[in-house]
Amino acid sequence: MSNRKDELAANLANVDRRIAEACAAAGRPREEVTLIVVTKTYPASDVRILSELGVRHVAENRDQDAAPKAAECADLPLSWHFVGQLQTNKVRSVVGYADVVQSVDRARLVTALSKEAVRQERETGCLIQVALDAGESGRGERGGVGPAGIGELADLVARSEGLRLDGLMTVAPLTGPYAGRERAAFERLMDLSTDLRRTHPAATMVSAGMSADLEQAVAAGATHVRVGTAVLGVRPGLG
Ligand SMILES: *Cc1c(COP(=O)(O)O)cnc(C)c1O
Repeated sequence: MSNRKDELAANLANVDRRIAEACAAAGRPREEVTLIVVTKTYPASDVRILSELGVRHVAENRDQDAAPKAAECADLPLSWHFVGQLQTNKVRSVVGYADVVQSVDRARLVTALSKEAVRQERETGCLIQVALDAGESGRGERGGVGPAGIGELADLVARSEGLRLDGLMTVAPLTGPYAGRERAAFERLMDLSTDLRRTHPAATMVSAGMSADLEQAVAAGATHVRVGTAVLGVRPGLG
């Protein structure tokens, strides 16, 4: 246990240094970037250690794993972010623990989230997940809506009871025009965020960047980076 704590502390310090250096290089204050640690596939005991080490935001991508973990860690001062593709039959469970759903990508999901948030008397933050591999108006292979679909979905979230429109999220695409061009992809997301904020000024979150590309995301202007492997280690198997 104490070994694991030392390991996580060292990894966190390293990631924090990377974020600080990326901020310095971009001329941005360090406080502009929030670290979200992606704890998927790792046990609740790791989440507890991370909390002791000062982490305040964690993310999960599968409700089956996240729900029991969040329940075990309900006493900790943590914000939970849901970042995976979300089926409407999981919405009831996810709204129970998620402070922010970062993977909102279709109207039917918005309707389901709103209904559940109202029923549970919660306010659920929503990020529109943007697919930059989808063409303008298509859908991404790993979820997300094409750039042309953002406006309508954002308007729907903004007028849905129980929901709060917080901003945009993306995963650097592996295919399409942005494959291998993370910096360009994140800059495109920033332009889309600027457009969105003209009509929704409070939707300031820009969630982009993972273990391998957080520097590019910070350089482009991301406000939140989602880091798994670089803090917790390489995940065994899928995830
Ligand atoms: C797993 C995951 C991450 C973290 O990825 P790492 O490469 O382990 O840092 C970030 N965002 C999403 C949506 C993920 O599923």
